[in-house]
Amino acid sequence: MKKLQNKVALITGGNSGIGRATARRFADEGAFVYVVARREAELAETIAEIGARAAAIQADVTRMDDLDAVYARVAADGRRLDVLVANAGRVERVMLPDVDADHFDRIFDLNVRAAYFTVQKSLPVLNDGASVIMVSSSLNVRGDAGASVYNASKAAVRSLVRTFATELMPRNIRVNTLSPGPVDTPIIDTQAPTPEAVAAFREYAAGVVPMKRMGRPEEVAAGALFLASDESSFSTGTELRVDGGHAELSPEG
Ligand code: NAP
Repeated sequence: MKKLQNKVALITGGNSGIGRATARRFADEGAFVYVVARREAELAETIAEIGARAAAIQADVTRMDDLDAVYARVAADGRRLDVLVANAGRVERVMLPDVDADHFDRIFDLNVRAAYFTVQKSLPVLNDGASVIMVSSSLNVRGDAGASVYNASKAAVRSLVRTFATELMPRNIRVNTLSPGPVDTPIIDTQAPTPEAVAAFREYAAGVVPMKRMGRPEEVAAGALFLASDESSFSTGTELRVDGGHAELSPEG
């Protein structure tokens, strides 16, 4: 029996990296998957890859109208959600003296505000007993230089999960945090200005992980599957780290 047979899932940021691997895995496990993101070509590619078990909804999740339209579409299709993954996010590394209000707002707008309303606005189409997964980061407990705003945004996500889990308990909706460590996705290509600098960043990112490698999106998708399925039926308000030891272990051993 497939782990998400006859379930309906919605994944924001589902056309790239971790979200895309999760969409593929959920569909393989029997779910129908709504893939939500902005870029049309990447959405089309993802749907072509998955086939009839997926549908694209083009939306900017920082826009409240777009979020309303996303859930209106689910309802218009006559579906309700069993699994919601609030995954869309961005990272920019800026040192404290160089952080400006635009950087702060850009990161919090997507990573916190949009994630918040992605969950809140889903409630009318979310089934009782559903599983909500909010994607945070191993950095939510770390103080790496250049990541003050990003780390705080992901700590906020970790916090939201606790309160959402409490408030949604009466509906048996479980809410959990999925915290990846450094994972090789297109987000990494945005972390440095030249291909050489990106390659150096990949090497650095692998080096700070105690397992001495970056994770694969499919490894994070496996964690998402656990939290999405009945395998995690006694877990709510908690955090699953898929990070090669990054949050809590020393890279030196
Ligand atoms: P990615 O490949 O760059 O994917 C980011 C996704 O977010 C894309 O699908 C993008 O699609 C979507 N997105 C961005 N802005 C959006 C918006 N305004 N509205 C709708 N969708 C939007 O990055 P990833 O590595 O898979 O990251 C996924 C999540 O994991 C993020 O929350 C990230 O912070 C977290 N994470 C990643 C790592 C890592 O090392 N990769 C580590 C820890 C945590 P469009 O551009 O088409 O909208």
